[in-house]
This record gives sequence, structure tokens and C-alpha cells, in this order.
Amino acid sequence: MDYSGRQQRLREDLRRHRLDALLVTHLPNIRYLCGFSGSSGALLVLTDSSTLFTDGRYTQQASAEVRAAKVKIVRNSPLIAAMEWLGRKALSGGTKSHVVGIEAQYLTVAARRSLSEAQSKRVRIKETAALVERARMIKDADEIQVIRSAVEHGAALFEAALQVLRPGVREVEVAAEMEYAARKGGAEGMSFETIIASGERSALPHGRASEATVAARGFVVCDFGVILHGYCSDRTRTVYMGAATGEARRVYAAVLASQQAAIAAVRPGASVSQVDGAARKVLKQHGLAQYFTHSTGHGVGLEIHEAPRVAQGQQEILRPGMVITIEPGVYLPGKWGVRIEDMVVVTEHGCEVLTPTQKELIVI
Ligand code: ZN
Ligand code: ZN
Repeated sequence: MDYSGRQQRLREDLRRHRLDALLVTHLPNIRYLCGFSGSSGALLVLTDSSTLFTDGRYTQQASAEVRAAKVKIVRNSPLIAAMEWLGRKALSGGTKSHVVGIEAQYLTVAARRSLSEAQSKRVRIKETAALVERARMIKDADEIQVIRSAVEHGAALFEAALQVLRPGVREVEVAAEMEYAARKGGAEGMSFETIIASGERSALPHGRASEATVAARGFVVCDFGVILHGYCSDRTRTVYMGAATGEARRVYAAVLASQQAAIAAVRPGASVSQVDGAARKVLKQHGLAQYFTHSTGHGVGLEIHEAPRVAQGQQEILRPGMVITIEPGVYLPGKWGVRIEDMVVVTEHGCEVLTPTQKELIVI
């Protein structure tokens, strides 16, 4: 991974925002910038160097993982240690004061207060928003390669689900089989709690696998993903138990057409709201738009939900290298629901569905 290139681009951004430094505390951002995957740390990016502050539990891990930054093992909070270190540096550097950006979105009120207490007179704190997240939206070739393998690995779990999906099996058992297969295949973990929602529960857009048993008839929504080398995958398939009714087939076909229309709308220069609109338009033609109650998709990378949001009213313009999900759904409360989700990468001329698999209705 090109950590120094990422930091170089961030430094150009810091100049544009009149910042002398950025105190990075959001762990996925730290990982993106220097490779450190520990659970405690603060990365201070200055215009000419970077330093990662972490604690003694991570001495070995930091020296193995961190690139393009010095490592300082500290006894107190890495956040405070970074702030104090910057204060000393500012004092020793003459009269010039330092403006340091903080990631306002992620600091607790208490942490912000401690920062003020640790702040030297020569240091000024400025709140910033999404500086690193905006860079993370565009994946480089290394990232796309890792995401591709995460998606492939994640997609294979659906086979494990199909092996056990039968009337009477508990939803958690289906999830357990998938998660066992994920870990056996080398995944670091699941990218979110596996969703297995059967019968009436399929109308819950986020129906985490429960103790409920799969009914003999009706839809089962399976939404799942793995983390591989830090990167997430995300996919949804919906199957039908028993003989599918005409209405069930019609709704499934409408959701599939909606998903395909949205995928066809993904290209550089299109806005995310246009993609969302393409999905909604098809469902409207089928009289189902009011049952599509969430956004069409989201960015995926080091985090399962990251920028951009593919939703109404969002203005982000798609650019090559963005990786997003396309996941329209229709939910009839108390009855059932259908969702179909794939991850796509925006290419120079359109998009590529990562590991395309069949999406025709599977009846069990
Ligand atoms: Zn999903
Ligand atoms: Zn998703």
C-alpha cells in the first residue's frame, strides 16, 4: 500500500486548509495512512513528517506494520501524548504557532476537554471534517485488489447458507455456518452482524439473525460480509422457501430490475443521487417506491459504511476507483421483504460488478 503517497496528498490538503498538522484519531484513517491496525493510537501528520503514538501493548505490532511514520510508545493516552509532543515542538521552533486539525466527528466531549488541557499556548486547535475520508473514497489499485478478494471470499459464504437453509432451522444456525466458513477461509471477522431474516422478519431491513426458525414459506434475506486484510465486503441475496407466489415473483423481479437499473447508472460524472433515482424510478413503475425505505447504497472499504452515501439529496459525483454497494429493497411490513445487493467499482467508462453471481430467484 502506498502510505507515503497517501500522506503526501493529505499534506497538500492540509496546506489548502491552512493547517500545520492533523491529529488523526479515527482508527481506520490511521490504518489508511500508515498501516497500523491496533486498537489504540493517534497519528500526528506534520508537513514534513508523521509520528504514530501508541501504547506498550503495540510495540511489536507497530514496528511490524507502520510505514512512513515514526513510532512513539507512550504510557499515557496516545491522544494527549501527541498533543503534548506537538506543544514541545512548537515551543522549540521559535515564535510561530501551530494550527492542528482534529477529527471533530470522532472525539468525545471528554477527549476534546483533555486536549484543551494538554494544549500549549503555541498550538491552536481547529476542527476538521472528513479530510482523510474524502481521500479514502477513491480506492487505489492495491485496495481494489484486496477488496476484490474480500468480495470473492464473502460471496462464497452464500453457498454455506444454501447448504443449511431449510424450514425449521434457526436463523442463528445459518449465520453460524456462514461465519464458520468465513473464519476457516481466513477472514479476520465479519464486516457486520450477519443478517438472516426469514418470514415476516424479512420486512426488517436490518433483521439480524435471531432464534426464529425459518418458515416453510416466504422470503429469507441474507446480508453478509467479511473483513479480509482490513477491507470489508457486503452482499445481500434473498431466497424463497416453498413455492413462490405470483406476487412474490413480481416483487422480486421488480427489485432485481431496480438494482440492474441503478448499476447501469453508475459511471464517472454521474451523481450518487442519479444512481439512487434510477433504482427508485423502476420501483415506482411497479407501484413499490413507498416500500423502499433506505438509501440505494454506500461506499465500502476499511469500513463497512463509508463515503459516499448513494442516496437522495446527496451531491457527490462518482469518480473512477470509488467502490459502492447497490442495494435496493422492498419491505412490506408484517408480510415480507426483498433486497439484492452487490458491490461495484466505478471504472473509466462505467462500473464493474465485483464477482457477479446469479441473481435469479432461488427457490428452496
Ligand atoms: Zn449488506
Ligand atoms: Zn450494504
